[in-house]
Amino acid sequence: MNFTQEIARRRTFGIISHPDAGKTTLTEKLLLFGGAIQEAGAVKSNKIKKGATSDFMEIERQRGISVATSVLAFNYKDKKINILDTPGHKDFAEDTYRTLTAVDSVIVVIDVAKGVEEQTEKLVSVCRMRKIPILVFINKLDREGKDAFDLMDEVEKKLGLQVTPMSFPIGMGYDFQGIYNLWEKNINLFSGDSRKNIEDVIEIKDIKSNELDQVVGEKAAAKLRDELELIQEVYPEFDRDAYLEGNLQPVFFGSALNNFGVRELLDCFIEIAPSPRPKDSDTRLVKPDEEKLSGFVFKIHANMDPKHRDRLAFVKIVSGTFERNKPYTHVRLQKTLKFSSPNAFFAERKEIVDISYPGDIVGLHDTGNFKIGDTLTEGEMMNFKGIPSFSPEHFRYINNADPMKAKQLEKGIDQLMDEGVAQLFTLEMNNRKVIGTVGALQYEVIQYRLEHEYGAKCSYENFPVHKACWVKPDDAKNEEFAEFKRIKQKFLAHDKYGQLVFLADSDFTIQMTQSKYPSVKLFFTSESE
Ligand code: GDP
Repeated sequence: MNFTQEIARRRTFGIISHPDAGKTTLTEKLLLFGGAIQEAGAVKSNKIKKGATSDFMEIERQRGISVATSVLAFNYKDKKINILDTPGHKDFAEDTYRTLTAVDSVIVVIDVAKGVEEQTEKLVSVCRMRKIPILVFINKLDREGKDAFDLMDEVEKKLGLQVTPMSFPIGMGYDFQGIYNLWEKNINLFSGDSRKNIEDVIEIKDIKSNELDQVVGEKAAAKLRDELELIQEVYPEFDRDAYLEGNLQPVFFGSALNNFGVRELLDCFIEIAPSPRPKDSDTRLVKPDEEKLSGFVFKIHANMDPKHRDRLAFVKIVSGTFERNKPYTHVRLQKTLKFSSPNAFFAERKEIVDISYPGDIVGLHDTGNFKIGDTLTEGEMMNFKGIPSFSPEHFRYINNADPMKAKQLEKGIDQLMDEGVAQLFTLEMNNRKVIGTVGALQYEVIQYRLEHEYGAKCSYENFPVHKACWVKPDDAKNEEFAEFKRIKQKFLAHDKYGQLVFLADSDFTIQMTQSKYPSVKLFFTSESE
């Protein structure tokens, strides 16, 4: 297979959902189709168990699983599929946001009874910002849930999407008979037997024909005909370009647990989902079929064994091929690096590989060279864009609790921040360090890891901040900016990259500040465009 064909056959995507909607179950069924695993139960849930949030064993278990399931790759038909794992727990949302910079499309899983939930809303809004093609899978049709039309309405309103059903349920819960596939024009009958893998698919070329009545009964047939008519009137026809541009979202119905409707989803997905997409850098748009390698780090995972301090940096290949032992340029450090044992990921294992293609993820052993967002090239000095920091939701001072270990603490904080565990802000006034996180759980993770991996002790102190606002002083009027800095000096800090940040204690303060200093622009992510 040549280079162009290798690119064209890759599908790199993430599955996002609110916890419990069925992401793990769906992932597992997809792997079964790829023949990548032999039985159910092989994919471990990366969920943090309820009520176990302060249990360190649980944190370690979670971290162990998260490296094991970081990338699940398999072949299906002629396609190479890379599923990037996205933690559903809200305390790890940043991890998911960053992973979304490395996917070419996503599948959103929604629970038919619960509808659109909080975490789904947040994650989809990030996808929309980045114009990532989205496919929706409505799960748990074997249970009583919301009416399909109401649910699609909810998806459109709450998620701001424009949907078009590609399949449609015949009944639901107790009366669930199966699914009409609008894409393939056939009916898949539900037997309710969860062990069933091969499904009875019945071709119905013309839904007006008598055949439909014989298969699902007269009443259900009449209802389905009405519903399909309504679909035609209300929803736009599927248009691949609109989907690829992020303007139209196809919807599938099914039951992941029963492996029902999953094959339809996968078969359609591999046809319509994008192969690796071009990516913007600070100098130009980089296309996947360019000969020279480029890629960026979107995730760093530390070794849990303190004796082996090496880390695994996950690189998404944007263009060219990644080859073992070939010299590449680490743009930020302006340094040439070679990798003798790059890892590729498969369903349950990782392996050293000689060559990887655009869309693939390689895992590089690292002793501290990489930060999230770093770019690798064959010499070109460019940086990929699109890994912003979002404002954390919790803020605490971090203090050294063991004066003999100040160096260790500093190094530990530095490396944990490179990994993206949390964000560090240094106050301008007194150089005190403030740690910002998405969830309270991260404070325990940091404290535990500082102690176990770096031998340092820390304590925290509350710092009542509501939001971090990045300040772009370029357009500010000099006098106004000087006054802003003087009045707000207690609340000004620098992030890890030296950008100025205003730590505001309430939305009211943000509003007041904006109206008082209109030329000083405040942003809620580190990327202003
Ligand atoms: P995740 O948190 O999104 O990864 O969700 P899981 O895949 O762990 O699923 C959460 C729960 O829902 C588990 O108990 C699953 O067995 C169950 N579940 C998943 N899919 C279905 C389905 O199609 N029907 C029913 N009834 N339960 C399901």
